[in-house]
Amino acid sequence: MKKITLLIPVYNEEESIDALYIALLPLLDNTHPLLVGAQYEWEIILVDDGSHDLSLKKIKELSFYDSRIRYVSLSRNFGKENALLAGFDRMTGDAMVIMDADLQHPIDTIPEMLEMWEEGYEDVYGHRLSRGRESILRKAFTRAYYSILNRSTSVDILPNVGDFRLLDRKVVDAIRGLRESQRYTKGLYCWVGFKKTGIDFKTADRKTGKTHMSAGRLINLALEGITSYTTAPLRIATVLGFIVSLVSICYMIYIVCKTLIYGEPIQGFPTIICTILFLGGSQLLALGIIGEYIGKIYNESKHRPPYIVAEESQTETNKSITTKAPQL
Ligand code: UDP
Ligand code: MG
Repeated sequence: MKKITLLIPVYNEEESIDALYIALLPLLDNTHPLLVGAQYEWEIILVDDGSHDLSLKKIKELSFYDSRIRYVSLSRNFGKENALLAGFDRMTGDAMVIMDADLQHPIDTIPEMLEMWEEGYEDVYGHRLSRGRESILRKAFTRAYYSILNRSTSVDILPNVGDFRLLDRKVVDAIRGLRESQRYTKGLYCWVGFKKTGIDFKTADRKTGKTHMSAGRLINLALEGITSYTTAPLRIATVLGFIVSLVSICYMIYIVCKTLIYGEPIQGFPTIICTILFLGGSQLLALGIIGEYIGKIYNESKHRPPYIVAEESQTETNKSITTKAPQL
């Protein structure tokens, strides 16, 4: 019997956990109407990403009550991307479905994903038709961001496609091998390749609690996305530097000639100020861009583990977990 792992990152979701478990039961028991005749063995991995509420207690209760549920508790909040990696390292299924704990991802889409997987697709991603309740500003920002990201990178990172997806074990193994600690998983799915297909779904509104993705976190993730997949900003800085230098040289020649011909009247204060400000600004911008990349090198060069486990449910498979990259 094929085994399917459900990976669910949890951060302060005490109010949704019970509802989530109840909603998942038809799948776990293979009684879901859309699971036509299919019989799967199910495993749920709940990764508690350093929650401050009663999430961990609830998760532990569930795993005590239902042996198909395993949990991992991280020592602090490492962020969703790293929490996902903890689950990647522990999955034992033939395929894995990643979904949020807040019931925004429709469970009825999972049987469809499994069907596509059975047809031979290795990465079945959910494609959001609507983005649920979101501000106009966030929607506009997202659209502009993906357009910039895709124009500047060689891997196609699809808009409106997130972590709700089914991955074959091969894809999971490939992603486990990528141990960068500043992760942008959405890009990693595309970077590793494999046979992909999409399934449309409508994002539901959050039933309880509120999103953890504040504007600041989203901006950080967006920068992570760009700096992880392309060095185009460095190239832009170089080109910009080159253009500014060229214009400056032309202007210098003009000033020198003008002074030689007409002498040096006390004029041009605004020009000098504008030039200094412009040059200063573009130098700072270029330095900032270079700094972003140096910062990444600095962080990665420390070789810190992407997450630290405080405790986890004891199973036979746990003993064999290594947080080192697997040999591919
Ligand atoms: N999450 C997490 N760690 C974090 C933030 C979020 O594990 O630091 C989990 C959260 O519990 C949820 C999923 O990631 O299961 C998506 O988070 P959220 O709903 O806040 O994001 P949104 O759906 O608004 O993008
Ligand atoms: Mg959500």
